[in-house]
Amino acid sequence: MMTFEELGVNENLRRAIEELGFESPMPVQEKVIPHLLGEGAEGDVVALAQTGTGKTAAFGLPVLQRIDPEMRRPQALILSPTRELCLQIGSDLADFSKYMPQIKVLPVYGGSSIESQIRSLKNGVQIIVATPGRLIDLIKRGVVDLSGVHTVVLDEADEMLNMGFLDSIDEILSCVPADRKMLMFSATMPNEIARIARKYMHEPTEFVIGNRNEGSANVKHIYYMVNAKDKYLALKRIADNSPNIYAIIFCRTRRDTQEIADKLIADGYNAEALHGDLSQQQRDIVMRKFRDGVVSLLVATDVAARGLDVDDLTHVINYGLPDDPAVYTHRSGRTGRAGKTGVSIAIIHSREKGKLREIEKKIGKKFERKEVPTPEHIIEKQLYNLADRIEKVKVDDEEIDKYLPGVSRKLGWLSQEDLLK
Ligand code: AMP
Repeated sequence: MMTFEELGVNENLRRAIEELGFESPMPVQEKVIPHLLGEGAEGDVVALAQTGTGKTAAFGLPVLQRIDPEMRRPQALILSPTRELCLQIGSDLADFSKYMPQIKVLPVYGGSSIESQIRSLKNGVQIIVATPGRLIDLIKRGVVDLSGVHTVVLDEADEMLNMGFLDSIDEILSCVPADRKMLMFSATMPNEIARIARKYMHEPTEFVIGNRNEGSANVKHIYYMVNAKDKYLALKRIADNSPNIYAIIFCRTRRDTQEIADKLIADGYNAEALHGDLSQQQRDIVMRKFRDGVVSLLVATDVAARGLDVDDLTHVINYGLPDDPAVYTHRSGRTGRAGKTGVSIAIIHSREKGKLREIEKKIGKKFERKEVPTPEHIIEKQLYNLADRIEKVKVDDEEIDKYLPGVSRKLGWLSQEDLLK
């Protein structure tokens, strides 16, 4: 394995990432970094890599290193599909460039004040991290000069296409010098991505990076086969059977997402919906509640859940299977992280059996079939869990002493058996 130094990463960057706890390069970094920093590193890069593989540092470190700090105009442009990802990249770059104070990174995205973004642009920034829509807005107002850009990164390119940004990307690239270097990161490789690569890139080198969570030994894959009309009941039983559940439930459409979340809330679960019909502010609130653990079941579409990075999910639940096996890999890779074990559950009906086999082939693992837990089973599980929690309660003697006589007056006459009951 190579070191960051051997990959050509400079000392200031190495110091910063060392402080972040990066000891050695991840595979995507080993492959991509020399393409930008190595000698004679010609040609562009297409990397099939998902979130969690370390791709941000793979493009972020060399992009930072290639900036001329004396020149106070945009030299690198990073495009991302969503505001969340935009902010995430901006914050990662700020971390990496901690010891390069002359470098200014500016995230620009819709939904926030364009005036303050314009002011920052006027003060001189070298790296712009942008969502396509807002960037075009800025270009049209003539406040952003891309003529000095030598490096362009398209992050989550497949997602940008799904969101209909193809024309915007076209328009943006026409404002950037033709001899720029270009890197494209994508979790999947639909035909359109290959077409963009052909159209805009010079002899791109392709890398396929295995997801660090793909087929992870830590993730168990389980499926429940039910009649279509019983899916919701199965979901509830599964949730009931896991008293400490903290899960994302993936649905295919926005409507399903809202419907399932509404039903769960009406049935007394700690659930919320996350999908594109919500306003940015609503989405932010939901994500915060979920991150803070106030909400334990998040019902989400794949796209809306992208901006959310939580490491300690107990379960990922597929409320129906996605058509593309890569989407399943992406979903299930959200559990079993950071050395913990995770469970990826699929609630399916018999017509989805074919999709299941396809996914098994892709992840190189078999799903285990389970029966939906019976009410008796759930009650038993919940009771033992309650008993466990009671057993583990930490008692603050000083605090509770003053209340004990009162409690004792109320309950002291009960036998141990009565009390347990
Ligand atoms: P990303 O795929 O860019 O979202 O990165 C996934 C996570 O891996 C982030 O939390 C990074 O901070 C972390 N990371 C990236 N590169 C390394 C590395 N070389 N060593 C340890 N952690 C890393």
